[in-house]
Amino acid sequence: PAPIGEPSKDKPATLPSQPAIFIPVDRSPEIQEARLKLPILAEEQVIMEAIQENPVVVLCGETGSGKTTQVPQFLYEAGYGSENDIIGITEPRRVAAVTMSQRVALEMNLPQNVVSYQIRYEGNVSPETKIKFMTDGVLLKEIQKDFLLKRYRVIIIDEAHERSVYTDILIGLLSRIVPLRTKKGLPLKLIIMSATLRIEDFTENKKLFPITPPVIKVDARQFPVTVHFNKRTPLDDYVGECFRKICKIHRMLPSGGILVFLTGQAEVHSLCRRLRKMFPYRSKQEPKVAAEKDEAVQETEALKAFKKSKPKKNMNLPKINLDNYSALPVDEGDEDREAGVDDEEGEGSDFDLDLGDAGSDEDEESDSSLPLFVLPLYSLLAPEKQAKVFRPPPSGTRLCVVATNVAETSLTIPGIKYVVDCGKVKKRFYDKVTGVSSFRVDWTSQASADQRAGRAGRTEPGHCYRLYSSAVFSDFEQFSQPEITRRPVEDLVLQMKDLNIEKVVNFPFPTPPSTDTLIAAEELLIALGALVEPLKTGRLTVMQKAKLSCPITPLGRTMASFPVAPRYAKMLALGKQHDCLQYVITIVAAMTVRELFEELDRPALNDEENVVLKGKKGRVLQMQKIWAGQGPAQKLGDLMVMLGAVGACEYSGLTPTFCERNGLRFKAMMEIRRLRGQLTTAVNSLCPDVSMFFNSKMQPPSESQVNYLRQIVMSGLGDHIARRIRPEELLDDAWRNAYKTPLLEDPVFIHPNSSLFRQLPDFVVFQEILETTKMYMKGVSSIEPEWIPALLPQYCHYGDPLEDPPPFYCEATGRVKCHRQSTFYRVGWPLPAVEV
Ligand code: ADP
Ligand code: MG
Repeated sequence: PAPIGEPSKDKPATLPSQPAIFIPVDRSPEIQEARLKLPILAEEQVIMEAIQENPVVVLCGETGSGKTTQVPQFLYEAGYGSENDIIGITEPRRVAAVTMSQRVALEMNLPQNVVSYQIRYEGNVSPETKIKFMTDGVLLKEIQKDFLLKRYRVIIIDEAHERSVYTDILIGLLSRIVPLRTKKGLPLKLIIMSATLRIEDFTENKKLFPITPPVIKVDARQFPVTVHFNKRTPLDDYVGECFRKICKIHRMLPSGGILVFLTGQAEVHSLCRRLRKMFPYRSKQEPKVAAEKDEAVQETEALKAFKKSKPKKNMNLPKINLDNYSALPVDEGDEDREAGVDDEEGEGSDFDLDLGDAGSDEDEESDSSLPLFVLPLYSLLAPEKQAKVFRPPPSGTRLCVVATNVAETSLTIPGIKYVVDCGKVKKRFYDKVTGVSSFRVDWTSQASADQRAGRAGRTEPGHCYRLYSSAVFSDFEQFSQPEITRRPVEDLVLQMKDLNIEKVVNFPFPTPPSTDTLIAAEELLIALGALVEPLKTGRLTVMQKAKLSCPITPLGRTMASFPVAPRYAKMLALGKQHDCLQYVITIVAAMTVRELFEELDRPALNDEENVVLKGKKGRVLQMQKIWAGQGPAQKLGDLMVMLGAVGACEYSGLTPTFCERNGLRFKAMMEIRRLRGQLTTAVNSLCPDVSMFFNSKMQPPSESQVNYLRQIVMSGLGDHIARRIRPEELLDDAWRNAYKTPLLEDPVFIHPNSSLFRQLPDFVVFQEILETTKMYMKGVSSIEPEWIPALLPQYCHYGDPLEDPPPFYCEATGRVKCHRQSTFYRVGWPLPAVEV
């Protein structure tokens, strides 16, 4: 028999469910030699036997042990990719799907139409494809089209420890698909691969897998890594701290590659630039240092160059049409919406860091040490640039890879001896009040910090420099929380309904969100019109159980395709009416990016600053008054101020000076521009009935457009309505100017900085409630009470048309007209009657 680990041609083919054919692979001697060094090769027989005997297998092993590159090859050789069968492998990150398919094709000496990849907008899958790497979002989309995944013989879920929402949902779905396939006589194998991190969530969860799947552990050779903590933890400038640490390592320590962990794309570029300037390396083949900067400049210029689009004259219709929403094409064809887990790195969500470092470059003169071969690595980097990190650096240089957490477990970079870990990660946070999710940089977990350190000991003993103290480390949480417990669930529930999973509460999540959260999400989605409203029995709306099995509506499908929370997605879906879309996109972008305005109410550091702040505040308030518009425009309230601010800022060329003078946060304004572009692209590509140019400059909306905008915003924020407490209802003097909402017992107030603070409209919608000295509504817009029963019927109760108010004869039509008295849900506020 062949030595263990060496796949050979006379492999036994006797096991019952083993495919009959054995496919030989013609590898080069160098590749074969490198493979034999991988610890997983020694386990090939054990792994393949487990797969043949069990429908589900969990495989865990240290990063770099060979799981991703070798297991597909084992399966291919064992005949799992023969005839019409495909071996599918999902990755939570695009970068891994692309590089791993290339690596495996190379190792197997097969073309990329046989070992292929598919990510959101690109891929090289062909009818010849046998091994297909894809992102988890792509497979999810395929499940929507073919629930049994009949083309696949094996599915490998890779990087399951990352616990991306889509990986979690895939595992839940596959736990049901596998037995279904067995019943049909077309068995499907499921292999869950993970780094050695908390796998009990998969194995000990009886709802997920009633029969505990076997767990195979692959021991990896790991050389010792010496961990060095900083004595003190730098407060903010961890990029600068990284820079200094790398300079020291490069000047003082023996050869060996350096791998640096930062949190996002902009930081990566900024550090790369500083390092290249300090330790220059020039080569004819290498692009200029400024290449990345050019891209940013191009983007800005492209935005400027876009054609102007002028709003058409208003059509003078009194109300928006709730049925007039953007719809996805009926045959969804190749449209391939993907879970954007890359966002986890917050790629692109920070336009900022270039600024922070702009000044410091001048102080740093180049150094005469060895050139440093600096390479960036992050998810959205072009594949040919990503591939560079796997090649040896040019002779006479030291490799330095500046990466986001994609290098933590997905990719193993050869030759790394030093790891520099900033200890931070960009995380997505969910604001319970607003439903807005945002990215914030926070400390990582102990498990991830250890993964990062481990990258230094793959080929020889290494060192890890942690830019924080050991005391800070001991405060880190042990493991990162699964994404599903940190994300808005209404978003998730909508995505699942889009997959036709109707009873979300019964879904076998590896880590389920709480039932209450799921119910609340479902209720909101019903109210937004994204789910079919359950049948009403008498006055009672449905049992919770029935609610939890509501199917999705066509509007819901459109909403599910926008990369924003469902409330905002509803606004976007309705936004194409009366040429309002560019404004709706801007309002949604502005509401998603928090804190547009600089905080001017903060206590001043000294008298001098006090004077400056006061002066500035006066000017800023004046500007905000201008932005709030005149006449009817004012009724859009704070959202009009946002529109005006973005409009003015874009006309001024979006300069830091303009922002500074007018109390706007430059970073926020840049982010709004980026989001506006992104949302425009999304609307254009998803909804064939819409085609709009993106012009960052826009004309102010017309008067009637303002009214439509108020209605569109209201239809997304239907549960965020507040009614002014009338003087006769006042119980307490402290309630003067207060509002009531159905959400809270306590009164709420319009924030003093709101443009509607003095106007006190009877009915308003608000973006969020912020609690400081009082409960304050922010992002307030006034609405007309007669719109509520007409445009938010789901939030209203209606009286009997024959009783209140009495029917009357209409001369114009010659018909008897009936009205129904309406009241607002839960709280029973009387609203105007609607005609029936
Ligand atoms: P795991 O999935 O267990 O983390 P991989 O299969 O990704 O491990 O990697 C196994 C080995 O293959 C690693 O030592 C890595 O250095 C090497 N490797 C992976 N991709 C490439 C590549 N594109 N070029 C060169 N070596 C690679
Ligand atoms: Mg891997």
